[in-house]
Formats: sequence, structure tokens, C-alpha cells
Amino acid sequence: MQTSKAKPPVSAAAVKTIGIVGAGQLGRMLALAGYPLGLQFVFLDKSPDSPGGQVARIIPGEFNDPRKLAELAASVDLLTYDVENVSVDALGDIPKSKTFLPPVAALATGQDRLLEKELFQELRIPTARYRAVDSMPELEEAIQAIGYPAVLKTRRLGYDGRGQRFIRSPAELGSAFNALGGVPLILEQFIEFSREVSIIGVRSRSGQTAFYALAENRHRDGILRISMAPYHDKKLQALAQKHALRIMRHFDYAGVFTIEFFVSRGQLIANETAPRVHNSGHWTIEGAVTSQFENHLRALLDLPLGDTTTTGFSAMVNFIGQMPERDAVLKIPGAHYHDYGKQPRPARKLGHATLVCKTRKQLAACLKKFPGLVDD
Ligand code: AMP
Repeated sequence: MQTSKAKPPVSAAAVKTIGIVGAGQLGRMLALAGYPLGLQFVFLDKSPDSPGGQVARIIPGEFNDPRKLAELAASVDLLTYDVENVSVDALGDIPKSKTFLPPVAALATGQDRLLEKELFQELRIPTARYRAVDSMPELEEAIQAIGYPAVLKTRRLGYDGRGQRFIRSPAELGSAFNALGGVPLILEQFIEFSREVSIIGVRSRSGQTAFYALAENRHRDGILRISMAPYHDKKLQALAQKHALRIMRHFDYAGVFTIEFFVSRGQLIANETAPRVHNSGHWTIEGAVTSQFENHLRALLDLPLGDTTTTGFSAMVNFIGQMPERDAVLKIPGAHYHDYGKQPRPARKLGHATLVCKTRKQLAACLKKFPGLVDD
């Protein structure tokens, strides 16, 4: 509880040490971007081997443990996160004297597909038709309204294609429900899309905003495999920025904010939000004047935001399950290699490479040389 003696939050300009809940690769890349700005970092993570531990101290502990969150808060001037599944309830115990950004309301919405869809509707951002589903009779009712094909998803904790089932016919209703049931669900209209794109925006504490070029995202087995930017479509770029701006203003947001969209018949259909730096923005480290990681930190410290202009045509390739030979990647002109230092495991994101080329044609040629990409 806050008392009259409670210290005021450290002013943005005086922030020296940032606490990051979760020490994954996003946290590691945030810290690496923050050192040149004169910042220090402390992580909270249950695994001492997490990528963040290579660059800063990790307080070992569950990131939903209020005592551990308090310990992290006591060691730093400001808090942010690299994982989305932090318990919003546990965050409620962080002293008010510690600024926590991006805002908890945006995090809570990003954690729940139903709240996300309701927000899109409220802010008039086109999205798939949907119904909340908590039982088999509700699923039967929902499919009547939405029609086939449809996608049944868990409302919470779904990522990289986990926690979802496509339903093409009445015969698949029961098995989809049984596979996911027992937790709150959402049934979504299946969107026939030509592409998947994402917009990364950033808003500072005093309301300055900037946007990166749209990235086109290709998935394999539900996991992001390649992001390419810029996705040149002036109309969609402007529309995506308008949508992201509306959401960031709605939350009085500070930090980097991502929306993933389907492109369907030339229109953007919002799929989900990520109130944090995002995998589809890793290309910005070498492919934009200022990376998403640096701009996230600038936004939290209310520093002037950095230039988001692209430096060329970029493709970011995720290394999933195994790392390629470093030599083989670095032989490709314009290639940059990122190894997160994780133990290999199937379906685990272990690192990425970004290729930055002067022309789209050169980029296409370089991608052909990329080891292991033939099947993508
Ligand atoms: P998500 O976890 O919502 O990002 O979904 C993972 C992937 O499943 C997306 O990148 C799409 O390729 C596909 N997907 C999800 N929702 C839909 C939908 N409503 N219609 C068509 N495809 C979808």
C-alpha cells in the first residue's frame, strides 16, 4: 500500500537501471541496445541460463511471484517486460513509486484474445467475426453465427500457433473443443488472406510517435520463420499506422507496440496485438536507422525517438530448433548473425539472421543462398 511517505517515481530523465521481467532474447536485445544509452539492466527469470543472463544479472525466480517482482523493483528505477504472460494481478503489488511500462492495461488486453477483439471493435479496427465460447453448446451456437471454416483458439496463453484448431466441418467441432476445452475460448471467422503483415509503432511517455515500415511475415508450423521489410503498400502502411496510433493513444501507451494483420482483398484485418518489442521487428536492428529495442528504451525514458527509416531491403530469418553454420550465413553479403545462446530444442527460437540489401532484387538473390531456406 502506498503511504504518504512513499517515494515519487524516479523521473524519466534520471532512470539509470531498468528491470526486465523475463530474460529471453527480447530482454537480451533490449539490454544490448540500452548500454550505449548509459543504462544498466537487471532481469527476473526462473532460468539462470536465459539469454539475458549473458549480458546482465538475473534475479532467479518466477516472474509471477510478487516477492520476486518486489525484489526486482527494489533493485531498479523503472520496470518493463520481455514476456507477455506476466500475471497482471502479481504486478498490482509493485510499489507505485516504480514506473512499470508499457501500461498494464495494454498488457492485460494483449493477453486475452477476446479483450483484443473487443478493443479492435471499439476502435473501429476491422477484425475477424468472433464469439466467446466456454462450452460445447456455446461452440455450436457460435459456429451457426460465424460459419465454416472457423478457428477455435484459447483466449489466453496461445502463441506460435499453439492453442488453436481449425474447424472445417461439423465433424471437427467436437474434437476441436475436446482438444482445447476446459479454458475460456474464442471462435473466429477464418480469414482468407493473401499475406500476413505487422506494424511496429512506438510512443514515448510525452506522446511522440514513430512507425516502422510494415513487415511481411511468413510462418512455418505456426512459428514466424521470415519477416521482410519494407512491405511496400502506401495505403496499407498509412492504415496500419492509423490503427496502431489509435490503440496507443487509447492506452496512453509508452514503448513499442505491435499489431499483426491479415491482408485480405487489399484490406487489413487485425489479428492480434503485442504490447512489446516483437519478433517481426528484429530486422530493425540492422535494417532501420534506430532499432525497435533502442526506441522502446527511448520511449520509456521519454528521450527523443530515433529515426525509423529503413536502411535497405531486409529479411529476418528465425533459426528454429537448430542453428545454421555461422560461416555459411556470414558468407552471404549483407548478413548479420544473432545467436541467443540457448540450448537447442525442437520448435525453439535459438537465433536469427538479418540480410540487408540495397535492392529488393539483391535481397531475393541473397535469400536463395541462405542455408536451409529452400523449403520455406
Ligand atoms: P495467431 O496465434 O493468432 O497468431 O495464429 C497463428 C497463425 O494461424 C496465424 O499467423 C495465421 O497464419 C493463422 N490464423 C490465425 N487466426 C486465423 C484466422 N482467423 N483466419 C485464418 N488464419 C488464421
